[in-house]
Amino acid sequence: MEIKVLGAHMLESRDTRHSCFLIDSVMAVDAGSLASALTSAEQAQVEVVLLTHGHFDHIRDLPTLGVATLDRPGSIDVYGLPETLDLVHKNILNGALYPDLTGELNGQPPKYKFNGVAANEPFRVPGYQVKPIPMDHPIPCVGFIVKSDSGACAAFSGDTQGKILGFFEDSLSPEVLFVDVTFPNRMYPRAQLTGHQTPWMLREQIVIALAASMEPPRMIAVHLAPDHREQVALELADLAAELGIDLAAAEEGMIVAL
Ligand SMILES: [Zn+2]
Ligand SMILES: [Zn+2]
Repeated sequence: MEIKVLGAHMLESRDTRHSCFLIDSVMAVDAGSLASALTSAEQAQVEVVLLTHGHFDHIRDLPTLGVATLDRPGSIDVYGLPETLDLVHKNILNGALYPDLTGELNGQPPKYKFNGVAANEPFRVPGYQVKPIPMDHPIPCVGFIVKSDSGACAAFSGDTQGKILGFFEDSLSPEVLFVDVTFPNRMYPRAQLTGHQTPWMLREQIVIALAASMEPPRMIAVHLAPDHREQVALELADLAAELGIDLAAAEEGMIVAL
């Protein structure tokens, strides 16, 4: 399994992109930079998109990806909570702001096939088992554990202000967890208000896991606030040294091979 970090930040700028990961060139987790980070040829390879939730920074490139791949035969399977799929359909792909790519267009079959998922109910896509894990965020949100048929397994928290023990306990045993650490410790009130983690909040969860003899996987912090990236990275390095865990901040273009 090869995971490419397309977007590692909560905001887009010349140097940062919205949350988005690409697995083996064919499956995306979130779509925040699924068009802006890929060439046209790479966009045409995407067959599956897993959506953690409906916030704009996670779904933004669905419209352009859909239109860009209209001439490619076949649909793209999109999986998410029913609330997430509703948000996307009603507010973005609604036939007003952008074409409704979930229905027939110019006599062509739908470009996007929406598939509702439920927390803790695993499902299969070709080549992979996927399990949604419920997260703690102001709107309904799930993280995903993705296990390839070759045995490699990775997890993605989506946006969360905690509740990540589900990834450590799961029998699928992910080898790596891409986890929301948006703000530095001094911005704890903002993190609480917006449903994200600081390194200290992540520490609380890891300490619980270690006390329960769980072995946390390698962790890669994502959804970083660009203006606070350096401070978050420093605090993560301190945490990794203190607890003896593998933890660092992601960056765009990073590739993790499992
Ligand atoms: Zn969010
Ligand atoms: Zn977000």
